[in-house]
Amino acid sequence: MKLQFVGSGDAFGHGNRFNTCFYLSTSGGGSLIDCGATSLIALKKQEIDPRSIETILITHFHADHFGGIPFLMLDAQFSKREAPLTIVGPPGLKDAFIAVMETAFPGSSSVRQKFSLNILELAPRELLAIGRLQLIPYPVNHGSPDGLNFYAYRISAENRVVTYTGDTEWTDELIEAGRDADLLIAEAYFFEKKIRGHLDLATLIEHLGLIQPKRLILTHMGRDMLERLPNLSFETAYDGKVVEI
Ligand SMILES: [Zn+2]
Ligand SMILES: [Zn+2]
Repeated sequence: MKLQFVGSGDAFGHGNRFNTCFYLSTSGGGSLIDCGATSLIALKKQEIDPRSIETILITHFHADHFGGIPFLMLDAQFSKREAPLTIVGPPGLKDAFIAVMETAFPGSSSVRQKFSLNILELAPRELLAIGRLQLIPYPVNHGSPDGLNFYAYRISAENRVVTYTGDTEWTDELIEAGRDADLLIAEAYFFEKKIRGHLDLATLIEHLGLIQPKRLILTHMGRDMLERLPNLSFETAYDGKVVEI
């Protein structure tokens, strides 16, 4: 299994990075983890054919994780995609899909595509086998008190486990989500400053012993973190970085 950081940035373009988007490839197929607003440009820049994407996993509906969907859908339409596409995400995904499509390109949500589109809303902590992947979504804390519309994912394929925290402040859900993962991709928005809804590196380090990931890569870094990169002893993401898992 291979993961490419197509976009490793935050919502504000810090470090000139693209919005969150990871391309996960297993033998014979590809999936996206999040699809931020800039994702289609980033995919094309990194020469990844969007038609190879079978499944898109969405952690939450903020534009830096979800706003690229309309561009991807229009690209699929005009490139005459025929392969089925599945989009999975938190409860509310079906309504959010229509809303983002209609905001970006009015009328686009009801265009009949040449490919079948399957939109699945996942229940928290429910194991789902989809294509080549097995997923468990964990509710995280990034803006709504019930955590219903915000997920971290534990993804298994080819006897490997990748966990992505999504955007979240610390929650014990991340322990089970990331435990012993071959790769934990964690938000580290700040170095040690604590703010609501986001994770800082110091808090993550405090809890890392409970998670014990085999490899940790930090992403979604704000200016504070990016300025510290030269002195950081942790592995960090950058756009285009490829990881073999
Ligand atoms: Zn974000
Ligand atoms: Zn967010």
